[in-house]
Amino acid sequence: MPPLVRTIGISKHYPSGGTIIHAVSNVSLSIEHGEFVAIRGRSGSGKSTLMSLLGLLERPDSGEYALRGREAARLSEDTRAAIRRKDIGFIFQLPALLPRATALENVELPLVYAGVPRAKRRRTAKDALDRVGLADRSHHWPNQLSGGEQQRVVIARAMVNDPALILADEPTGSLDSSTSDEILSLFEGLHRDGHTIIMVTHAAEVANRARRQITLHDGRIIEDAVASGKRSLLNAIPLDSSQ
Ligand code: ADP
Ligand code: MG
Repeated sequence: MPPLVRTIGISKHYPSGGTIIHAVSNVSLSIEHGEFVAIRGRSGSGKSTLMSLLGLLERPDSGEYALRGREAARLSEDTRAAIRRKDIGFIFQLPALLPRATALENVELPLVYAGVPRAKRRRTAKDALDRVGLADRSHHWPNQLSGGEQQRVVIARAMVNDPALILADEPTGSLDSSTSDEILSLFEGLHRDGHTIIMVTHAAEVANRARRQITLHDGRIIEDAVASGKRSLLNAIPLDSSQ
């Protein structure tokens, strides 16, 4: 099986004033099915730009990107949109939840796009909400939920159609530390269940929850490290010997 994600020297630059910003510069990486990867780096280091390339929201200016062995450059816009809906769960700070839809309806949305019949949609969305501990908040509106609960609804929505890849950009960015701990525990659970997660963060303590950490600086990878058993013991995360 090809790696889930494979990039070869991808770059993305933006013109700015008279100069060019190299937001992502010559990034090569390979991510296997079932990995939990943190992409870390200071603000402005290119993390969100890399996520938008991996999420097929933007096209690189150069380099190659294959998702599940399919070369993205060869895909039509329609196919890219279909892959985004079906194979990728986005947990980005914006856009968050639809304000005029209940928690349950928000989680159902990807299933609506996928053409899943109503009864099955309800059932699947309820299961996903249950999974994030919000079964009893199904009929709440987003403004009736705390920040952490809203983020859990976003996570339920991202995983409801069982995507191959979950992309999270600063998923704990606006949360207090105990709430962000809950969110990170949810990610760890998803990882244990075999989901592939790529999570962007500028915070070391958040990145430390992932097995593998890729560090960006000025758009380039400066480190790509897999955690030692010692750190996993400290965090009391069981090491998965299959990876
Ligand atoms: P991070 O998520 O690590 O904070 P970003 O990927 O958002 O970094 O940004 C990387 C660099 O690219 C920054 O200098 C930013 O200002 C610039 N940049 C990002 N998106 C755009 C854009 N659409 N147009 C121009 N510059 C951009
Ligand atoms: Mg960012």
